Amino acid sequence: MTDDQQIQHGGCLCGAIRYRITGAPLISAVCHCRNCQRQGGSAFSVVCAVASDNFEHSGEMRIFVDRGESGLPVQRHFCPTCGSPIVSIAEALPGLTIVKAGTLDEPGFVQPTQEAYCRDAWASIPRLPETECFATTNIGTD
Ligand SMILES: [Zn+2]
Ligand SMILES: [Zn+2]
Repeated sequence: MTDDQQIQHGGCLCGAIRYRITGAPLISAVCHCRNCQRQGGSAFSVVCAVASDNFEHSGEMRIFVDRGESGLPVQRHFCPTCGSPIVSIAEALPGLTIVKAGTLDEPGFVQPTQEAYCRDAWASIPRLPETECFATTNIGTD
């Protein structure tokens, strides 16, 4: 594998925010939580968690401070121009940056292996094959 294959690029809908990830994602998951549904305007979000040191971006993002299940703050970073959610940074997950995988230039490389907050999943949307499903989440410290 060349170094090129270990670098992923992405950005927001309008292009004001661009980012780069080096290294493989540590976790690839689907999140069905209500907050992800509202932020993304969709049934669920697909995310990949990377070491924060491996994420760099250009462009100014705005931050909405959300509260996770643990009660700890979750910073949801988004483009102030087009509204695309880009990353979440959860105090419960120190050192990780959770990238909204739909903003990757090549999102098809993400293979979710787990689904979080399945208790909030839509009945009309089937679970993915070969994922481990959790009522809430097994990630983090809550
Ligand atoms: Zn934008
Ligand atoms: Zn969520």
